[in-house]
Amino acid sequence: MTTEITWLGHSCFSLETGGVAVLVDPFLDDSPVAPVKAADVAADFVLVTHGHFDHISDAAAIARRTGATVVANFEIGQWLQRQGVAADKVVAMNLGGTVELPFGRVKMTVAHHSSMLPDGSYGGSPGGYVLSLPKLRIYFAGDTALTLDMKLIGLGGLDVAVLPIGDTFTMGPEDSIEAVKFLNPRRVIPCHYNTWPPIAQDADAWADRIRSHTAAEPVVLELGKKHTL
Ligand SMILES: [Zn+2]
Repeated sequence: MTTEITWLGHSCFSLETGGVAVLVDPFLDDSPVAPVKAADVAADFVLVTHGHFDHISDAAAIARRTGATVVANFEIGQWLQRQGVAADKVVAMNLGGTVELPFGRVKMTVAHHSSMLPDGSYGGSPGGYVLSLPKLRIYFAGDTALTLDMKLIGLGGLDVAVLPIGDTFTMGPEDSIEAVKFLNPRRVIPCHYNTWPPIAQDADAWADRIRSHTAAEPVVLELGKKHTL
């Protein structure tokens, strides 16, 4: 079984695994860099890491259109239902919990950040996800600072870590090096950069530093281009 990942800009990724389409942090219609619109993406599952608009703005519309199941923390799950997502299409969870889904196991991990929803509602605790697919373990950090928790998150081994490197609102390139050392993934994919000027980064320079300071292979994805993991 192959798993393919496509970067849709910012922290939005599309995964295709075992015939299931999993969308992470949908921010498309208002994103200055997204290569597709919300009306054009496929989704069987949508994973939301936290309530900020640049991670959730298209989640409800995509769920309503596709009938996808949305995975989020409890507070965001309640909010999504108020946006018209059917209750049986919401999997609500919280930090440290794991749910079994048709494509694999999904665990919600700690993230050090904040999480207000677009209308000002409380968004609960921000998180990340570890996806245990049949042949692959992938960690989506979400928006977070560098944290020692990453040593725990890396236990059991990671094939891929998807980390923010934009700085200003999350950890930056410098701290992402330490994060990779804590997590010890085989490959690392950067995100949450080059969407707006405050998070502009040179991904090639970052990749050189990952290569020289860690054992991981950096994988800088091109926007909209499918990559086999
Ligand atoms: Zn955020």
